[in-house]
Amino acid sequence: MNARQNAIESIGSQTFVRSGLVDYRDQSLTDIYASQVFTEAVQKDRLPAEVFDSLQQTIKRGGGLDPSIAPVVAAAMRDWAMERGATHYSHWFQPLTGGTAEKHDSFLTPNGFLNAITKFSGNELIRGESDASSFPSGGLRATFEARGYTAWDPSSPAFILDSPNGATLVIPTMFVSWTGDSLDQKTPMLRSIDVLNREALRILRLFGNKEANRVECTLGVEQEYFLVDRRLAILRPDLMLCGRTLFGARPPKGQELDDNYYGAIPERVLAFMTEVEYELMKLGVPIKTRHNEAAPGQFELAPTFESTNLALDHQMLVMQILRQIATRHDFLCLLHEKPFAGVNGSGKHNNWSIGTDVGENLLEPGATPESNAQYLIFCSAVCRAVHKYSRLLRLSSASPSNDYRLGAAEAPPAIMSVYLGKDLTDVLDYITSGQGENHLHEDDQKAIGLPILKKLARHGGDRNRTSPFAFTGNKFEFRAVGSSQNSAIAVTILNTIVAESLDMMATRIEADLATGKDFQSSVRDLLAEVIDEFRPILFNGDNYSMEWLEESERRGLPNLKDTVDCLPVLTEQESIDLFGRYGVFTESELHSRQEIMAENYCTVRSIEANSMLRMAQTMILPAVIRHKNNILPGLTTVTQRKLMQELDTKLDLLIQAIDELKKRLSGVKPDMPVMEKAHYYRDSVLKGMYALRVIVDYLETLTDDDVWPLSHYSELLFIR
Ligand code: ADP
Ligand code: MG
Repeated sequence: MNARQNAIESIGSQTFVRSGLVDYRDQSLTDIYASQVFTEAVQKDRLPAEVFDSLQQTIKRGGGLDPSIAPVVAAAMRDWAMERGATHYSHWFQPLTGGTAEKHDSFLTPNGFLNAITKFSGNELIRGESDASSFPSGGLRATFEARGYTAWDPSSPAFILDSPNGATLVIPTMFVSWTGDSLDQKTPMLRSIDVLNREALRILRLFGNKEANRVECTLGVEQEYFLVDRRLAILRPDLMLCGRTLFGARPPKGQELDDNYYGAIPERVLAFMTEVEYELMKLGVPIKTRHNEAAPGQFELAPTFESTNLALDHQMLVMQILRQIATRHDFLCLLHEKPFAGVNGSGKHNNWSIGTDVGENLLEPGATPESNAQYLIFCSAVCRAVHKYSRLLRLSSASPSNDYRLGAAEAPPAIMSVYLGKDLTDVLDYITSGQGENHLHEDDQKAIGLPILKKLARHGGDRNRTSPFAFTGNKFEFRAVGSSQNSAIAVTILNTIVAESLDMMATRIEADLATGKDFQSSVRDLLAEVIDEFRPILFNGDNYSMEWLEESERRGLPNLKDTVDCLPVLTEQESIDLFGRYGVFTESELHSRQEIMAENYCTVRSIEANSMLRMAQTMILPAVIRHKNNILPGLTTVTQRKLMQELDTKLDLLIQAIDELKKRLSGVKPDMPVMEKAHYYRDSVLKGMYALRVIVDYLETLTDDDVWPLSHYSELLFIR
């Protein structure tokens, strides 16, 4: 038996009983929830009243922490954490690698000769110094000024991460260079939240709202993932190094029967999910939903939405915990957007809305004429933003791994469009033309001269699952984001472009009022104008169809097919002006991010291409030759020898494809400018990879199963 067959045997002979699983029958959900978080309740309990108040002010209003309270907060945090077994603390941040970073420091501090105390100072809480030279900076920082520092983000509470034999107090932080440039995903995202708050408040004030003090965006992130048995996965260098299969013939059965979506969750998987949820709930992540997804071996988990900053930190924890707990259950959790060719990929739907601190959802159609006009302004601001900056939004979902998913038939296409549904579209049509179905309540119409929305069906049957950006009743769902991505960049861009629209609209209404125009006419005229402007972005039909491809071209909508096409957008003058005006990214930050993304693209493709070569040369080719030698002596008749001819032809093709990919890879020169290199990977290397895959996948269907070294798709997708 080969290693693959051994793995299968071991999985097959295992009866699934595990001791030491968490058992919810012993404890209540509400006790588990946030038990590892330095919550408001814990703060209140452990901090002097003035300190507690000051901290809460900082958390709710944003801005810096009063340094004088830092030592008290730090001491309370340390005591609380040590009572729960923590020995270390860690500043936790989101560098531009796409993941998270942490460096642990012990509370233990020597005090005199062979004496020690535990200590955690205010300074250690609010600021950490870190050598930034090993994190991507995209040229922002020369090595002689390699220092970066992490700064506490009080709006995301500290928490305790348990490990098998201890625990760590984790402090969410921003990561910036010594010169103040952001080196992470969080810093610009927090800036974008502030900008959106400012511009949205302007609109609210114009509508006479005096109660709201702050407008926040809310986010609920659905996470799709695959589970494969680890014993089968580790036999595949591609899964271990690239997180996806680089080879693999289509199995006789994939997802054709559509029998997986919402199917009964296998017991072994449910045990895994239950443990994941337990760990996440302890950390305060409000996990709500779990189910089987469309592809075999694919699942989804979704939390209840939260304030965006918290939701994004929680998103990173979700990915981390999924991966960690998978190992405990002999699974490998694949967060890659396209781990298997020919079956569905994985996305990360970003459900996004804006609301006030007094609980009003600004994207929820209201009950009165005034609130409907206000709703239409906010909804139109979002549509206008997606239309005007659709390329930036597209860029926010671009990554080398998501390139394998976007635009393929099962994922929202690379063409950005907005789905509003029929009712709402009718209303917008009515506003611009004064004709058509308007969903009016007659009396109310007089009040403002605008159509009054009937309560739009929130779970109407007209949900459009093919739209990359769909209105779903009281929020928008941005579906293009990939399963392995940090959603922060998508949120940062979305917040900024919506803020720009709100700014433009507020400025217009203010100017109208200054000239004596009445408020209602101003709003109505503005809406009519803006709706006409963004109309081409509205599409309620099937985004996967060929007709839409043609129609979108006629409408002049951009179709940026992959990361390489998207990258230039980041540093166009329009982007520099936009982000500069709102202080979200400086020009040098944009250049640095573009360079990091381009480098990352090249590195990922290089790892994939080299992994393919290595596997083809050291695993596939020898297996096929072994197969050939095994059967050769037995071939006697003409028909049997034809079999050998076919095998020989394919073997030659394999060798040629290997040589071709090598040749293409050798065309990558170290001194190539990074954008040129990225183009080369996409236009040449990627094609060589594809050609090699075609021949290998064909050989997989011919070769003796006893010598084939790689776990087949059927095994990876169905053995559990
Ligand atoms: P589905 O899209 O599968 O039909 P739901 O519409 O119920 O499911 O919600 C999907 C996600 O949207 C959940 O994470 C939910 O918490 C989130 N969500 C609901 N309301 C809001 C909101 N106002 N802002 C942001 N996210 C929201
Ligand atoms: Mg959804």
